[in-house]
Amino acid sequence: MDKRMEEPPIIVVGGGLGGVASALALGQQGRAVRLLEQSAEIAPIGYGVQIGPNVLPVLARLGLAEEVRSAAYLPDDLLLLDAYSGQTLFRIPLKGAAFEQRFATPYIAIHRVDLHEILLRACRRLPNIDLNQATTVTGFSQDGNSVQVHAADGRTITGCALIAADGLRSRLRAQLHPADTWRDTGYAAYRTIISRDEAPQSMRNRRGVTMLTADGFHVIYYPLRGGSEINIVGVFQVPGSNDATEAAHHDLVKAVTAHAVPEVHDVVSVLNLTRRWSIADREPVRRWHQGRMTLLGDAAHATLQSLAQGAGMALEDAVTLGDLMAAYPADPARAFAQFERERFLRTTRVVLESRALWTMYHCGGLEAEVRNQQLQERTPEDYYRCLEWLWQPRKEAQ
Ligand SMILES: Cc1cc2nc3c(=O)[nH]c(=O)nc-3n(C[C@H](O)[C@H](O)[C@H](O)COP(=O)(O)OP(=O)(O)OC[C@H]3O[C@@H](n4cnc5c(N)ncnc54)[C@H](O)[C@@H]3O)c2cc1C
Repeated sequence: MDKRMEEPPIIVVGGGLGGVASALALGQQGRAVRLLEQSAEIAPIGYGVQIGPNVLPVLARLGLAEEVRSAAYLPDDLLLLDAYSGQTLFRIPLKGAAFEQRFATPYIAIHRVDLHEILLRACRRLPNIDLNQATTVTGFSQDGNSVQVHAADGRTITGCALIAADGLRSRLRAQLHPADTWRDTGYAAYRTIISRDEAPQSMRNRRGVTMLTADGFHVIYYPLRGGSEINIVGVFQVPGSNDATEAAHHDLVKAVTAHAVPEVHDVVSVLNLTRRWSIADREPVRRWHQGRMTLLGDAAHATLQSLAQGAGMALEDAVTLGDLMAAYPADPARAFAQFERERFLRTTRVVLESRALWTMYHCGGLEAEVRNQQLQERTPEDYYRCLEWLWQPRKEAQ
């Protein structure tokens, strides 16, 4: 037996994309990994996710690029429309020579369940990864040699290192930064997947990622699974309490979209308004790590979805951390300190640029007029240049 298999495992808390990818990256090196997930089943919220060209190389490092690519849909373009006038504000092609010359891998849209299942299947093939469900972690402690993770059922699980991938509302981040909490935007998202056959004609005509935006709301939709399904997200500003009744939310959505173009009404007509998620991010904060423990993914740097990169950043994190744990196998504290140094600025830029885009998408009046003019002046090449820092594969992914 590999001597490292006799060591206490590396504990990963959270079975989202970040946690499962981290477990896999470490498991592939032969490290013993124990993943702890609070849900009865390790399963994602079953909606679509956009994955930028920077992320497929990361999945390639995990040996999964082909499998992911064949489960994915390749959108034609990113299209932003003014929800009141229907004017095109930008169209960024995601196919064709100009895109392919600049970005080596495609932009994809994939069902989260499919992506998660591909990662989980790869984990299950490795006997050194132990996937534990129904285990809610309440905190951790550590000494010089090991880390102890405390579960709600009273168990204490010992590991050689701890990766906290427990999401936006991370309990383990709260232990590290007690004064810090998530930052609610006052917006709530509704998500739906419908089959293409059920979709209004206006939606069936589009083959890319389409977003219609206005002050106080946006709707976004794109095909999944070979184009047979359409993923839809509607995001609305919620005045006052997000706990208002369902009927009140219906009225609100109706009122804010009253003057929008027919395509917005088409999208809203097929949106499931019974369940909503409040939209929040995290203030960037240094010190993701303490000794043998580190934060990762949304727990470290939760972002708004304006750049569609939260999951992408969690996947990049997983591979970077895997490489650093391989470089310093006996010194997790050193690996974790280096991990923060390598990831902090990039992930902070995603958080801050996503906020700026969020404000820009939802402005109104004169600000919206100026925004429209500015966006329309830019060419696809301008947008490619703006996105290069984000979409070009990172050195650690190659
Ligand atoms: C509407 C919307 C659209 C989005 N679209 C995109 C997109 O197109 N592209 C993109 O890249 N990103 C997108 N994101 C962001 C993306 O979903 C997240 O950034 C990503 O899922 C973060 O992954 P994670 O593994 O860090 O956290 P999570 O996916 O939140 O996983 C955390 C896991 O930890 C578990 N957990 C929590 N607490 C505990 C505990 N105490 N004990 C044990 N387990 C625990 C949870 O049950 C969960 O399984 C979107 C987000 C939203 C809200």
